[in-house]
Amino acid sequence: MIFGRHINKYYLRYSWVLLLGILALLLVDLAQMRIPEIYGTIIDGLDPAGKTNLSVELVFELCAEMFIVIAIMVLGRCAWRLCFFGSAIRVTTRMRAKMFDHCKDLSQQYYQVNKVGNLMSLFTNDLDTIDECFGDGILMLFDAVGLGVMAIYNMARLNWKMTLFSMIPMFFLAIIATIMGKYEMKKWGERQEAYSKISDYVQESFSVFAVIKAFVKEALELMSFKRLNKNNEKVNVAFTKASAAMNACVSFFVGSVITVIIGYGGWEVYKGNFVVADLIKFIGYFNTITWPVMAVSMLIEMTSRGRASLKRISELLDAKPDVVDSADAKPIEEVKGKIEFRSLSFRYPDGDYDVLEDVSFVIQPGENVGIIGKTGSGKSTLVDLILRTYNVPDGTLFVDDHDVNDVTIASLRRHCAYVPQDNFLFSDTLKNNIAFAYGEEEVADELVEEAARMADVHDNIVEFKEGYQTFLGERGVTISGGQKQRTSIARALMKNASILVMDDSLSAVDTKTEEVILKNLRSCRAGRTTLIIAHRVSTVERMDKVLFIEDGRVVAFGTHAELVENCAEYRHMVELQELEKEEASEGGIA
Ligand code: ADP
Repeated sequence: MIFGRHINKYYLRYSWVLLLGILALLLVDLAQMRIPEIYGTIIDGLDPAGKTNLSVELVFELCAEMFIVIAIMVLGRCAWRLCFFGSAIRVTTRMRAKMFDHCKDLSQQYYQVNKVGNLMSLFTNDLDTIDECFGDGILMLFDAVGLGVMAIYNMARLNWKMTLFSMIPMFFLAIIATIMGKYEMKKWGERQEAYSKISDYVQESFSVFAVIKAFVKEALELMSFKRLNKNNEKVNVAFTKASAAMNACVSFFVGSVITVIIGYGGWEVYKGNFVVADLIKFIGYFNTITWPVMAVSMLIEMTSRGRASLKRISELLDAKPDVVDSADAKPIEEVKGKIEFRSLSFRYPDGDYDVLEDVSFVIQPGENVGIIGKTGSGKSTLVDLILRTYNVPDGTLFVDDHDVNDVTIASLRRHCAYVPQDNFLFSDTLKNNIAFAYGEEEVADELVEEAARMADVHDNIVEFKEGYQTFLGERGVTISGGQKQRTSIARALMKNASILVMDDSLSAVDTKTEEVILKNLRSCRAGRTTLIIAHRVSTVERMDKVLFIEDGRVVAFGTHAELVENCAEYRHMVELQELEKEEASEGGIA
């Protein structure tokens, strides 16, 4: 049995079921106690001289009693199994749901620090251990205590001296088991960590096999994997050794007790102080506590594992979601699309310099704005802040003149649509991917097709055999990069939000397609704010305004023509890109 803040409440919640299980268990133990009595009565009736006090009626009675005892044991075992193991499944199901619920509230920062493989092992391996500890733990504890107390009481009734002698090896066993338990807990923690590392590694490798192959680094990857696997083997072997040593100790000490009973009991029988039937009964009672003794050692091992796993799960459940609503945040009902940055400086929680410095500009409702600048200049960070992926200082970022810290995060995000840089798509049909914003709601095909047309991907989709019902493989890998990007744009357009943010979302399409999409966006997003991060000047030159940033600072903000006229750095970038274009067309690449 394990206890901790995140599990205690479940003992209370399922107390009635667990109580029922414990009663069934004790009934089974009580019935089991009758078995040595029946053996004793039979032995008592056997007379080596040929005379016997056993009668047909008595034998019949003993058989009937044995049958009832066995029936009670079978039914009782069935009942406690259902109660204990059923509750364990319910507990882990609820814990899993709670963990997932908590995970969704954790910030992006948490997932950058904690790897997916490690989190996965919490949901699989560690929860399995909790399941085992909860069900088997209660069973073993109460079985050991119930059966142990009854057996020792019956043994003491027959011969208290022999009972005391037989407990001496148990005392040593208890000391050894306590020390070993601590060691096993440490080893189990290391084992889970090694497993997490493997699971991280495999998960990452599966995602980037194409890169590994392209760089012909398969052998290197295999070697790294082998190292992790070897380490996993080492810690597992260490745990198994500790476990085997514990089992050997238990077998040795239990065997020692039998030796004590046979030696001392045989001597007492020889002296005439003890009858054979009682010695058989005594051995019978002791046999019934062999399992509880084993159970105690298993319990110690299991508890050690369970505590290590619960500690890891608790670390996840205790992780504070750091991007949360302020105490007096109110939902924002309607958004027109005005966005204002007021002297905003931003540093990532684990960063050591300001990624954005003294950023100030205002986007009016309905404007479409291109954000341009070198890689690493802070473009994605800027739009991430609008989506409240990270915390921002009070009084620095406003949407429709509301400080973003005064409105609830969910309500703000509800008014924003987002096309992420990696264009992640779900393993689902194209239709469901595009209609993602609608969740379970039934969406008319025409609406989905319209969004796909606007994103210039409709013609590609209808060419697929299954059309909009085409099922995408994991991470949407069954379609090309450009199609994925445009599907991701269609998904965002489908949301019909007041603010649309596209993070480098036209990088995988050719300039002609880009032109079509930009033209469509102008018509379908008319009157609503659209922000497009881009690398090519051609993407942003026809937008209402261009925000040019460098090293986290706003260098210029205005129309393309204004920037060309007034901003030397921007003009330089335009000239550079035109030159590159000319060189590429001369080289026949365009
Ligand atoms: P851009 O979109 O212009 O390429 P980013 O906004 O992605 O630039 O990044 C701006 C800077 O912030 C870069 O120096 C980058 O290394 C850093 N950065 C980005 N994300 C994080 C993060 N999660 N933690 C710490 N630093 C980050």
